[in-house]
Amino acid sequence: MKSMYIHIPFCKSICSYCDFCKFFYNQELVNKYIDRLILEIKDNYRNEILDTIYIGGGTPSSLDLNSLEKLLSFIKDNIKVSKELEYTIECNVMDISKEKLELFKKYNINRLSIGVESFNKEILSFLERDYDKNKILTYIKLAKGYYDNINIDLMYAIPNETLDTLKEDINSFIKLDIPHISCYSLILEDHTKLKNKNTSYIDSDLDYDMYKLIEDTLEKNGYVHYEISNYAKDGYESRHNLCYWKNHKYYGFGLGASGYIDNYRYTNTKNINKYLEGNYISDKELITKELNASNYAILGLRTKYGVDKKEFKENIGKDFKDMYDTSDLCEDNDKYFLSKDKWYIENSILIKFI
Ligand code: SF4
Repeated sequence: MKSMYIHIPFCKSICSYCDFCKFFYNQELVNKYIDRLILEIKDNYRNEILDTIYIGGGTPSSLDLNSLEKLLSFIKDNIKVSKELEYTIECNVMDISKEKLELFKKYNINRLSIGVESFNKEILSFLERDYDKNKILTYIKLAKGYYDNINIDLMYAIPNETLDTLKEDINSFIKLDIPHISCYSLILEDHTKLKNKNTSYIDSDLDYDMYKLIEDTLEKNGYVHYEISNYAKDGYESRHNLCYWKNHKYYGFGLGASGYIDNYRYTNTKNINKYLEGNYISDKELITKELNASNYAILGLRTKYGVDKKEFKENIGKDFKDMYDTSDLCEDNDKYFLSKDKWYIENSILIKFI
């Protein structure tokens, strides 16, 4: 494994659309959790040199300085990393402070992922995000004083959102001059506040128009659309997420985290009591050759890098074209890939590779 995901399941407030594995912040629980998380990593890490580490959540930045320092110093002292390490931590706008940024720097974190979502007052209130436009501008400016490698998330397809309000949002995002933007349309997951209120999806034609507006505007402004939901300036693609999309193996530690080790994909329990007792894994699936081949296709075809012919043959033992109907795909010397105009409807195409 060359990558490690670490999950911090605590948030200071709960967003209306969220179905991630998270709890309201509770310092006593945080203390127990960090101790157990460190044990889980100690027991399972096999001393490889890692290329990427990603601390996600929940809201990792919500941790108090002592808990953050305990986790980050453990990682620094115990995990071997390459010189080109990409080391990301997810942050909430309201957690960004000089003290936390200095701590992140001290422990070699070199990339921030900040959940901005929108500048629009109504949208932020609908999503139950606890900041406004001025706070975004203030805290992103502060973060940029320490980091240039930053991602910000944009959420669209919100009920009552129009192409004009989205246009304003995209322009505000571009003005921040951040090298990576992830764009997600609102998904109404079960058991979220929005779903419980019977919220409806926006019209599907409008959803497509919004997707295209984002793509056209970001591309005009120098961003490369490299994965269905992700845009980056040259050299700022998320190497950690590319590990997932390239079907590479990785550690997943923490409550509800998923990983891919040896020939198994596993998911950790979302039950905090079981986790604290050391019963980490709740599901484990053997990845057969067939499943592995299918994962190469389903994950790789989300990106402009597609499925690498050589890597596929080395791992699966057969040529991609001998296993699948490639009539919907483009091909060059090295790879099979989906043309970008098909990404929006990719689910209907990827079904053939399952
Ligand atoms: S901050 Fe993230 S994890 Fe926490 S409630 Fe909001 S969306 Fe969910």
